[in-house]
Amino acid sequence: MPNDRPNSWDRRAEAHTLYGFTDLPTIAARGTVVVERGEGPYIVDTEGRRYLDANSGLWNMVAGFDNPVLAKAASDQYAKLGGYHAFFGRMSDQTVMLSEKLVELSPFDRGRVFYTNSGSEANDTLVKMLWFLAGAEGQPQRRKIITRTGGYHGVTAVSASMTGKPYNSVFGLPMPGFIHVGCPHYWRFGQEGETEAQFTTRLAQELEATILAEGPDTIAAFVAEPVMGAGGVIPPSAGYFQAIQPILKRHGIPLISDEVICGFGRTGAMWGCETYDFVPDAIIASKALTAGYFPMGAVILGPELSDRIHTASEAIEEFPHGFTASGHPVGCAIALASIGLIEGGLGENVRALTPAFEAGLARLAEHPNIGEWRGKGLMGALEAVQDKATKTPFAGNLSVSERIANACTDHGLICRPLGQSIVLCPPFICTEAHLEEMFGKLEDALKQVFAEVA
Ligand SMILES: *Cc1c(COP(=O)(O)O)cnc(C)c1O
Repeated sequence: MPNDRPNSWDRRAEAHTLYGFTDLPTIAARGTVVVERGEGPYIVDTEGRRYLDANSGLWNMVAGFDNPVLAKAASDQYAKLGGYHAFFGRMSDQTVMLSEKLVELSPFDRGRVFYTNSGSEANDTLVKMLWFLAGAEGQPQRRKIITRTGGYHGVTAVSASMTGKPYNSVFGLPMPGFIHVGCPHYWRFGQEGETEAQFTTRLAQELEATILAEGPDTIAAFVAEPVMGAGGVIPPSAGYFQAIQPILKRHGIPLISDEVICGFGRTGAMWGCETYDFVPDAIIASKALTAGYFPMGAVILGPELSDRIHTASEAIEEFPHGFTASGHPVGCAIALASIGLIEGGLGENVRALTPAFEAGLARLAEHPNIGEWRGKGLMGALEAVQDKATKTPFAGNLSVSERIANACTDHGLICRPLGQSIVLCPPFICTEAHLEEMFGKLEDALKQVFAEVA
């Protein structure tokens, strides 16, 4: 609750900090949660209140909020070499080791890694690489990028243009040349009488029609999340990637897997593309790459794109792109430690917890106002509906999912409203007892809010 103490943390937060992606009237009414420390999968605020964070921060804090292994990796590296760049033929030993590790983990037999400070910048970098190739390879028209409605790829001008969310229109985005095709959410977008297989075929045909209408030689790439994250946890319809990959291949269009959420174990395998059994031409990584302990993103190029970028760079002596903190040694040391944790047991824990996670989602989906549960590995969502049979959503002005999330916060559980759904993506260090606490608190909140709006 907001309070009348001008020196309180939440008043101070509001006075001098500009909030991103925050509903300001709600904050004015409820106050800001100012977080002071972590305890495993919990955060503790300046008022001493403890919350189980069922969203792992923003999908990224997979090893919890006070992991001693990651803290030590950071402090050891800070003591040795506190920072360096990756320009002019110099880079840290940690950077070398992390690239080796990422290529080894990738589905590629060889490849190269380019580092950024975020997932948005990794997508931006990828697009600049493709535009660079277009010019260098004598195909200056090959600049268009295809993504999906509901896909999330970031917030910089280019990555926001890739993102298929309506809010970007307030910036006059997308920029020209960014094309969005259909979202593979069968439950919501399947037509009357259409089977899931027919739905997948329809989306694949729509993709091919779009490619032909735009001109195949004007398309630089198709970029997709294996499971859409910020779009509301949307696993692809059955056979989706198997249906679209041959079309892209036929037209010579690279398939890029935006693994910023799926990468590093979230879906139960190291990569989402492994879970859905396809091999992309490049992988975009961030978030769990450092378990959220350092801002870092990476473009992991497969053999063909690596070779083409290398050849094009040699022709003009360099690839004229890079960030001051690209390949930061502390970020790389943390990423190596974080990957060590995932390979050393956290990835296995995701697989071990998945049946209990799915059972909890399925149980809550029995409620008459939950239309669908969906998910993969430790990412899931429950979609609220006013009428289950007709899938009719609640009126937007009821803000049902926001009210559910607020009721959860009041009971010590952080979860996120996305459209009409509630998203859950707990840290990989959770136990079954944490999942029970999460589903118990969420169930109380659902009952409370559905009783209010029924
Ligand atoms: C979060 C996210 C991004 C953007 O990453 P930032 O680090 O926030 O810039 C890109 N792609 C996907 C799939 C994401 O979930």
